[in-house]
Amino acid sequence: MTSTPIRTRFAPSPTGFLHLGGARTALFSWAFARHNQGVFVLRIEDTDLERSTPEAVQAILDSMDWLGMQPDEGPFYQMQRMDRYREVIAQMLKAGTAYHCYSSPEEVEQMREAARAKGLKPRYDGTWRPEPGKTLPPIPEGRKPVVRFKNPLEGSTSWNDMVKGPISFENGELDDLIIARPDGTPTYNFCVVVDDWDMGMTHILRGDDHVNNTPRQINILRALGATVPEYGHVPMILGPDGEKLSKRHGAVNVMEYDAQGYLPEAMINYLSRLGWSHGDDELFTREQLVQWFDTDHLSKSASQWDPKKLNWVNAHYIKQMDNAELAARVAPRIEKRGGNPAATDLPAAMGLLKDRAETLEQLAESAMLFCKPFTPAPAELVEQHLTPAAREALADFAQRAADTDWTREGITALIKAVLADRGLKMPQLAIPLRVAVVGQTQTPAVDAVLALIGKDTVLQRLGAI
Ligand code: GLU
Repeated sequence: MTSTPIRTRFAPSPTGFLHLGGARTALFSWAFARHNQGVFVLRIEDTDLERSTPEAVQAILDSMDWLGMQPDEGPFYQMQRMDRYREVIAQMLKAGTAYHCYSSPEEVEQMREAARAKGLKPRYDGTWRPEPGKTLPPIPEGRKPVVRFKNPLEGSTSWNDMVKGPISFENGELDDLIIARPDGTPTYNFCVVVDDWDMGMTHILRGDDHVNNTPRQINILRALGATVPEYGHVPMILGPDGEKLSKRHGAVNVMEYDAQGYLPEAMINYLSRLGWSHGDDELFTREQLVQWFDTDHLSKSASQWDPKKLNWVNAHYIKQMDNAELAARVAPRIEKRGGNPAATDLPAAMGLLKDRAETLEQLAESAMLFCKPFTPAPAELVEQHLTPAAREALADFAQRAADTDWTREGITALIKAVLADRGLKMPQLAIPLRVAVVGQTQTPAVDAVLALIGKDTVLQRLGAI
C-alpha cells in the first residue's frame, strides 16, 4: 500500500528574532514530519517588506540550526515566488473564482459602517462581485482594482482540527478576501495558500492566532482544486503569571537561551513538553521525542512557561553529558571570561563541577577557578585563616605530599592522616588549603580541586604563603 508522504512546514515571518512560541511551533512540525518519515519544509514569509529584515531571516536560520531542526526542503522565500502568485491570480480571474473590485478603501469603509449600523458584521457588500445576470457598475476612471476571492456565500467551511477538534465557520461570515492589491502584489493569506498547495503540504501545525485565516485559506484551496491539508492550531504559551509570554517574563529570543548557557538538547526537551505530553515523561531524548510524537497528545489549553523547570531540565542534560563534550561547549565561554581552557584538564574539571551547574554559563564561571592565573588570597583571608597552627598543618601536608600518589583518593588519605596526627577537624585543614592554593574559602571538594590543580602547583603555592 502506498500512502502520500507527510509534508509539514514551518513558515515564520522574519520580522524579528525567533521567539519561544515560534520555536515550539517549528518543533512540533519538525517532530511530526520526523515521526512519520515525512518532509519538513522551511518557508520564510517575507512579503511584509517594511517589517522583514535579512538579520531576522538569519536569526531564524541560526535558531533552527542551533536547535537541530534542519529543513529537508527550503528555506523558500515568498519574495522569490511573486511571479507564481501573479500567475495563480491570473488563472483565478480567468476561471471566475476571483474578480476585480474597483471599490475604493473609503467606499469599503462606508459599506462596513452601513453593515454595522444594521447590526451586521462589517463587510464588503459585493458591489463588484460578478453573478449571473448582474450588471456591474461602470469602472471609475483611473482607478486600479484589487482582486477579491469569490468566497462561497452559502454553507459552512469546517475542518477537524488536529488540536482543537471540529471547527466550523459560516461562509456568509467570511468576506470576499482581497488576494491582490491595486499594484498587483498578492496578500498574505493568498501567498500562504499558493505555497501550501505548491509545496504539497499535508499537515499544518501553527499558532492558534491563525484559526480565523484557515476557513479563508481552505475556500481558496478548494477553488484551486487543491487538496486541503489537515490543520492543527496550537494554543499559545503563557508566562508564569498567566499573561501572554513576553519580554516581561525574561528572554523570549531563542538565541538568548544559547547565550545564557542552555543546551539545545534541553531546550528541545523542555519546549516539546509545552503543550504536548507522553504520559508522565519529563526527560527524554530527541530520538524519543521523534519516536513518540503524535498530534493526539497536543494540549487544547495554553501552556505555561516555567523557568525553574527549564533550569531543572538543563541541569539534567549538563549532568549526563560526556565530560569531554561538555568541555568543548564550555571552553569558548571560559575564553570569553578571559580564562584559558587549556590551563587545566577541562573534562576533569567538568566532571567535578557539573553536578552543581544549571547552565553552561554557571559551569564556565566555576571552571574559571582552574583557568585563570592564580591570585593570592586577600590579606584579610590570609590573616583570618592562615594562623600559625594552620601554617604548621599546611607545612606538614606539604612535606608528606612528596610521597603521595596525587589522585583524589591519595589526597583524601593524606588529608585524613594530617588531621588525625594533629587532632584537627576537616575545616581546620580544608579551608587553609583552599586559601593558600586557590585564594578563596569556597570550592568544590578540596581533594578533587587539589588533584586537578596538580602536585607541583599545589606545593609551589603552599611554599609561597
Ligand atoms: N507566517 C506566519 C507567522 O509567522 C505563519 C503562517 C502559517 O503558519 O500559516 O505567524
